[in-house]
Amino acid sequence: MQTDSLVTLDRNHLVHPVVNYRSHEQRGVTVLETGSGAYLRDSNGHELLDAFSGLWCVNTGYGHESIVRAAEEQMRRLPYATGYFHFGSEPAIKLAAKLVELSPASLQRVYFTMGGSDAVDSAIRFIVNYWNALGKSEKKHFITLERGYHGSSSQGAGLTALPVFHRNFDLPLPNQHRIPSPYPYRNPVGSDPAAIIDASVSALRDKVQELGADRVAAFFCEPVQGSGGVIVPPKGWLKAMQECCQELGILFVVDEVITGFGRTGPMFACEAEGVTPDLMTLAKGLTAGYAPMGAVMMSDAVYQGIAEGSGADVPVGHGHTYSAHPVSAAVALEVLRLYGEGGLLNNGIEQAPRFEEGLRSLLDHPLVGDARSRGLLGALELVADKEGKTRFDPALKLADRIFEAAYHNGIILRAFADNVLGFAPALCYTGTDFALLFERLERTLNAVLDQPEVRQAL
Ligand code: PMP
Repeated sequence: MQTDSLVTLDRNHLVHPVVNYRSHEQRGVTVLETGSGAYLRDSNGHELLDAFSGLWCVNTGYGHESIVRAAEEQMRRLPYATGYFHFGSEPAIKLAAKLVELSPASLQRVYFTMGGSDAVDSAIRFIVNYWNALGKSEKKHFITLERGYHGSSSQGAGLTALPVFHRNFDLPLPNQHRIPSPYPYRNPVGSDPAAIIDASVSALRDKVQELGADRVAAFFCEPVQGSGGVIVPPKGWLKAMQECCQELGILFVVDEVITGFGRTGPMFACEAEGVTPDLMTLAKGLTAGYAPMGAVMMSDAVYQGIAEGSGADVPVGHGHTYSAHPVSAAVALEVLRLYGEGGLLNNGIEQAPRFEEGLRSLLDHPLVGDARSRGLLGALELVADKEGKTRFDPALKLADRIFEAAYHNGIILRAFADNVLGFAPALCYTGTDFALLFERLERTLNAVLDQPEVRQAL
């Protein structure tokens, strides 16, 4: 079909996630057609270096034949098996066992979902059920970080602490609370790691005290805050938050939907600090975007609490038609093999210093105030004045200008609110890919800097 016809059909019928509907109608869709390694091609024949792994999910890169074969073989053998009525399938059972083997020792049980939002939503439901089962039914309050993202489900979007996910959606709910983000570049306590960790621990303690520990169910956090602008807390922060939760008697939930599967270096970001969460949510890199799948992992204590509390022969009323989908599970098993035996995790670790250096080298650019990363997850924060860290006037729409200029120069990056540019290159990136990325990125920043409205705003 011709691109023009697709653009018209899209404009008339397809509702896109997280866009301004009017701006999208005006701009029109960019139709992506093919992908290979770190590169995409659109329907205008434009070649793009994907610096965001789709939506921080295609960690393997595009076009892996072995993943396609795994999906095809499973589709031929058995395209679907329900998990209801005590049924199951070989790939799903093997995948659950594999995830338990790879993840922190505390996590022993896995419930599969279709993506991250329903993994978070499932985690919330399991937690409510667990505390009720234990007879602690007052424990109904949830605490998250400002700038956190925990998906778009009815309750998860309330744990998300980004204004656009609340606006006109009647969120957050009255039992959802926030504490400040451990944001080194803009933190009232300054950028000293120990001070940032202390501030977060104190804020959590204060919030729990204010609500009453016997009323707080759980604290949810991302090891690196993704959609809030790739905010990288100091090393040791995650461990300190876990210890604080243990001390206060509340469940510690790590949302590794972005940070899982090598994105920050190790298989899970938790590993780097020896953190053992009570629950962990996963998606994205689990199947590298080749098929939809997410998961919530839980400790045996949470699982046993729910099991004991459900009563003899009464089902736990939580289920999805596509939970543990065999095709997605077969894809995930092959993706996990590529991370390990296939060497992708090691390549990501080897390439990370090149990524960090490239970002840091742009600190000299007149638009760039901060460069931050962990593993292959990073960001540049653009400011109008480096000394005062002054943000650009939103009316300038700087992020949109950069996104469009980047596309024109052959790169896909993510432009966040507050003019943060996000990067999540695939673990298959080579030195040549990084050289091209930073050459195109510098060209992009210079082109935008040359726009008279932008010059004037500096
Ligand atoms: N949690 C985190 C930390 C995420 O980044 C995301 C998605 N970006 C989600 C949950 C929701 O996942 P999904 O979009 O697959 O529903």
